Amino acid sequence: MTETAHIGNNFIAKIVQEDLSSGKITKLVTRFPPEPNGYLHVGHAKSICLNFGLAKQFNGDCHLRFDDTNPEKESQEFINAIKDDIQWLGFEWVGPVRYASDYFEQLHDWAVELIDKGLAYVCDLTAEQAREYRGTLTEAGRPSPYRERSPEENRALFARMRAGEFDEGACVLRAKIDMASSNMNLRDPILYRIRKIHHHQTGDAWCIYPTYDFTHGQSDAIEHITHSVCTLEFEDHKPLYEWFIANLSVPAQPRQYEFGRLNLDYTVTSKRKLKALVDDAVVAGWDDPRMPTIAGMRRRGFTPRSVRHFCDMIGVSRSDGMVDVAMLEHAVRDDLNKHAPRAMAVLNPLKVIIDNVAPDHLEWLTADYHHELDLGAREMPFSREIYIDEDDFKEEYSKKFKKKFTPGKRIRLRHGYVIEATSYEKDEQGRVTLVRAKRIENTLGTDPEDGEKPKGVVHWVSVAHAKQAELRLYSRLFTHPSPDKTDEDFMQYVNNESLHVITAWVEPALAAVEAEANFQFEREGYYVADRYDHSAEKPVFNLTIGLREDKSLTEG
Ligand code: ATP
Ligand code: MG
Repeated sequence: MTETAHIGNNFIAKIVQEDLSSGKITKLVTRFPPEPNGYLHVGHAKSICLNFGLAKQFNGDCHLRFDDTNPEKESQEFINAIKDDIQWLGFEWVGPVRYASDYFEQLHDWAVELIDKGLAYVCDLTAEQAREYRGTLTEAGRPSPYRERSPEENRALFARMRAGEFDEGACVLRAKIDMASSNMNLRDPILYRIRKIHHHQTGDAWCIYPTYDFTHGQSDAIEHITHSVCTLEFEDHKPLYEWFIANLSVPAQPRQYEFGRLNLDYTVTSKRKLKALVDDAVVAGWDDPRMPTIAGMRRRGFTPRSVRHFCDMIGVSRSDGMVDVAMLEHAVRDDLNKHAPRAMAVLNPLKVIIDNVAPDHLEWLTADYHHELDLGAREMPFSREIYIDEDDFKEEYSKKFKKKFTPGKRIRLRHGYVIEATSYEKDEQGRVTLVRAKRIENTLGTDPEDGEKPKGVVHWVSVAHAKQAELRLYSRLFTHPSPDKTDEDFMQYVNNESLHVITAWVEPALAAVEAEANFQFEREGYYVADRYDHSAEKPVFNLTIGLREDKSLTEG
């Protein structure tokens, strides 16, 4: 059965509610357990919103625990980035940052406990032999020839593994469960393997590392996690999770619950594939604004609220689903429409000279940043020469173009005067290069006294005062709705046109804004001052998302 419900009202929240009501638990404790082997992506945002959101809703705690059992792929850079991402999303973990590696000594002791109970053994099969012995989905496995080693012998061998006496791959510690189980995960799974590598947290203290399966549930037990919420691919691991909890002297009995992972079309959500995009320099880094990483979305201009709202919209269900990326785009557009200040940038400038304004005229117009919200105001310089967008002037009036500026017709400059076009100049290619106009007096905030209303409202900047800004225009990174679900390599579907850099003229107030400030550039789209590259001397803005097709909804 598929059940989709908003965070706060999903099937896991219902289970938690029942467990609190029945007295099964007195306090909810969840955890978010990333492996620090890459940056977090939008799928992780869903898991963060769920785990931290449940804790918030039920007055419980949510821990951050790095699941750091594969040191070769992990790094401090990733740890720092993950912490930043969670905080940026608006969540805070309870207690210290935790690491599964904090529990290595305890996990080791539990491995010895299993050995002593005759439930674990050191196996010398090579990886290839072990695969053969393991059987297949339709065929039972065979017992390893090392399966009947005595607890004493296993203890001694495991101690030697830990002491570094064996080479990598020479042997592993395995649980002794059931080689004929229909669940492959129960066919004597590996508990420890030899890896003679430095660990970002424990240094060179260990040369054996526990597997994910042997680590996760017991770490949950140590932390008294009540509801261990994970994605569906762990469903098959649950019997193993429960086997360890049942066979070890753990301090608590956590339970695992699975939900469907988020898949987005036109996107890949796998750290391995995102890493390939970074390593192959398809993008500029993990936080490239085209990446579906949290850091990428941040740099693109998504707000934390918009990402949380998206996670709420898609809900939590018991099955994996494919979500239309348009939903994510909608979430951010909607959020910026409601909250972002509005200002003016001219992308394709066409100069207009207003002949009845004196050459030395300079007037500062006070312009609100939003027509409904109280977001403050800035001063906009108005002078004789301005830029408008070249699409806002046409030589001839036509039905298609009835709202715009043509000779003899009027438009209103947003926050400014009404002007009327009087003549224009063209270059040899027939392109309009200059428009001459006259200002209609007494039209600041009111219609012309002669009753001839302007045909529309356009954005503009003063030529002498506007600043040049670099605009980075981003679009989707992939051309295929399911780039990693075809027979081809997903890299084939990278959109080579996903970034265009242009220069635009922006009003002076925009140059002075802080990095990461979001704006609607009126009639153009939503932009953000680049987190790293924007400065007053060299303004840089990233296109977050275009305006809605129905412009009436975004034009104030
Ligand atoms: P990836 O498959 O991208 O490498 P992962 O599952 O290996 O991701 P982890 O760092 O192990 O990444 O994940 C931390 C938590 O985030 C886990 O509980 C995992 O279930 C959850 N998670 C990962 N990807 C998604 C997703 N697409 N949707 C929802 N939750 C996810
Ligand atoms: Mg994982």
